[in-house]
Amino acid sequence: MTDVPQPFAFLPGDPDSSVILHVPHSAREIPAGVRSGIVLDDAGLERELDHITDAHTATIAEAAAEAAAVAPWRFENRLSRLVVDPERFPDEREEMLAVGMGAVYTRTTHREALRPGGFDAEPLIGRYFRPYARAMTEAVADRLAATGRAVIIDVHSYPSAPLPYELHGDGPRPEICLGTDSFHTPPGLLAAAREAFAPCGETGTDSPFAGTYVPLEFYGKRAEVSALMVEIRRDTYMAEPGGPAGEGLPRLASALATLVDAASG
Ligand SMILES: [Zn+2]
Repeated sequence: MTDVPQPFAFLPGDPDSSVILHVPHSAREIPAGVRSGIVLDDAGLERELDHITDAHTATIAEAAAEAAAVAPWRFENRLSRLVVDPERFPDEREEMLAVGMGAVYTRTTHREALRPGGFDAEPLIGRYFRPYARAMTEAVADRLAATGRAVIIDVHSYPSAPLPYELHGDGPRPEICLGTDSFHTPPGLLAAAREAFAPCGETGTDSPFAGTYVPLEFYGKRAEVSALMVEIRRDTYMAEPGGPAGEGLPRLASALATLVDAASG
């Protein structure tokens, strides 16, 4: 018998903070019943996890939360994105479906088979994707009720060299890519992020990854829910792929704490 891992966690911050640090892709954990539906052998799976996981982003968020003057709330996915990717649309709206990487991936980062042909994604959507989306929706509603607004800062990382699955891999790859949404990302939040991350290198917007995550219930409807995605280039803080964190991590955590404080004010 193995313990069933907790699929996600909402970690409290200051009651007056409107900020939620969302960390969807940091974990490598795959429950045994989900592992058996993946066709890679163990070595192949470890290699895929090295490429696809936003390693150490939970550590960056945790350190930022500790350093911030007003502690943000944190929503962490405790399972690998190979179980379900909570940030993808669970249907045909998802452009990544074209490369087998909708909410339930069927292809690897190198466009090889991850799950068998004809794989039924619905059980994973029901068991993991929908409960996650519900809990994240409630987390945002909770901050809205407490403070009158919510600020979702989505914490990711991305490889310095494009992977074959990327749809927009030929664009710029700055040290910090800020993903924005025309409705949910106020110019002030974007400017605060550019300033906060200036010590970490170059910042750019929406390349190579665009957009930011907002639960569908609020998406395009509630301007009090603001959001920004922070995609950190992995060579700024870790050995790629899948290696340990290096000396760049504290600087990134400190920059993120500065952004949290700017967004809280
Ligand atoms: Zn990510």
